[in-house]
Amino acid sequence: MAAQYDAVIVGAGFGGMGAAIQLHRLGHRRLLILEREDDLGGTWHVNRYPGLAVDIPSATYSYSFEPNPHWSRLFAPGAELKQYAEHVAEKYGLRPHMRFGTVVTGAHWVEEESHWRVAIAGGDSVTATYLCTATGFLSQPKVPDIEGIEDFGGKVIHTTAWDDDYDLTGKRAAIIGTGATAVQLIPEVAKVAADLTVYQRTPIWVSPKPDYRIPPRLRRLFARIPLAQKVVRAVGSGLLELLMISGVVHYRRLRIANRIAERYCRAHLFRQVRDPELRRKLTPDYSFGCKRPTFSNTYFRAFTKPHVHLETSRIERVEEQAIVTADGRRTEIDVLLLATGFNLWDVNFPAIEIIGRDGKNLGKWWRENRFQAYEGVTVPGFPNLVSLNSPYSYSGLSYFTTIECQMQHIDRLFRAMRARNAKVFEVSQQANDRFLELMRDKVGDSVFALGQCATANSYYFNQHGEATLLRPTSTRNAQREAVRFPLSDYTYA
Ligand code: NAP
Repeated sequence: MAAQYDAVIVGAGFGGMGAAIQLHRLGHRRLLILEREDDLGGTWHVNRYPGLAVDIPSATYSYSFEPNPHWSRLFAPGAELKQYAEHVAEKYGLRPHMRFGTVVTGAHWVEEESHWRVAIAGGDSVTATYLCTATGFLSQPKVPDIEGIEDFGGKVIHTTAWDDDYDLTGKRAAIIGTGATAVQLIPEVAKVAADLTVYQRTPIWVSPKPDYRIPPRLRRLFARIPLAQKVVRAVGSGLLELLMISGVVHYRRLRIANRIAERYCRAHLFRQVRDPELRRKLTPDYSFGCKRPTFSNTYFRAFTKPHVHLETSRIERVEEQAIVTADGRRTEIDVLLLATGFNLWDVNFPAIEIIGRDGKNLGKWWRENRFQAYEGVTVPGFPNLVSLNSPYSYSGLSYFTTIECQMQHIDRLFRAMRARNAKVFEVSQQANDRFLELMRDKVGDSVFALGQCATANSYYFNQHGEATLLRPTSTRNAQREAVRFPLSDYTYA
């Protein structure tokens, strides 16, 4: 029986849209994009907290084939990313393929039919020749397991479920978390709250943010002469790559670059915070790069305001109107803001149950063996599956680098299939093992293996303590491999 769709893509964020654009280019028209949220854009649809902005320069944090000359700042506010996602969906005709408010519960490979059956909450299911999961890395919000939190009588808001109608003005607020999200949120809440206590478990490396407004005449120039914006993109990407390569990937040889990055962040903190005790609390004790660093000009300074307090004692419990720390202090609050991030390794690899050949369960297999995926895209035993949010897939600092490498991989793989008149691909165990070994070898040179990462509490590490999220190579390497991986690494039928 023929499958209903050429491909089902799970997720309508930038990853899913990139895959859809690529499959469309390859001539696949029967595409279905399933999305659990009520609109497209992924992260940039879900997140609406005050201060939300991209922390990678926008000329870089966008598809290279779809530059946007209209960014208002070097680091665009979140709403512009959402608009950009809408523009891309419109221009590439993706909306008609999308079905919103649709929760995919699982998918299994039907051997006799050589297709995937994708199960949807509510009992419905669809079939597709190819399955592409694009469910994001940071898409399962983490609510902290703190005693009494469910009995709190005030307002609780997770940053991924912002309540636009709730007014923080004059409120006594608490924020749990000091990751990249909190770094953006804290200065904004500090502007309006009567009192703000920030509960920090692990400090974060923060460097200055060269966050400039892009004047209209420059935007007009970008629109008229796209090459001008390409140059800006190349410079931004180059600097990020330098930071990533020297500070993180090649730590063994370029440890000095990592130290320079740390010094730069420390100097930034020194300029903004005069109190040595506060500075000490805000200074990480782990190596730069073990955990996602971020940029901000206003984060450290927020803590110098008299109504903003940094609390580093462990939270003991939450009561009906207060937070109590391990040292017995009790802080009364009206609103509890959870900037507690995401659960990656328990529920997100993969985000849905995927059953491949011979009943092989992807999540179980990853957990019982190692987290692994050939070139961060395909897995042996899972024919016709393109898994975008796989171990070792994240390349460079801009997610768009990852997406575009994966689009190239899809392009090469699907053309190879067409040349062989094949309908089914599967990566060989041998190729997968070779890639895994290479990645493990390269991680051995990185800050993850050689730096002081034990106290970082970083989501780059899985539950076995292995850094299996980032691809520990240069972006150039990822790009090169995407267009020249041996076609014999796959079987075709
Ligand atoms: P995160 O980096 O995982 O930070 C979560 C914070 O909550 C951490 O400080 C964590 O402390 C704390 N936390 C979690 N559970 C806790 C508990 N039970 N008790 C006390 N503290 C707890 O999450 P995020 O800040 O949402 O950022 C996630 C990622 O999103 C970033 O790394 C970045 O990649 C991305 N992001 C990007 C942008 C952008 O502009 N592009 C903006 C925001 C976020 P520990 O560190 O001790 O676990």
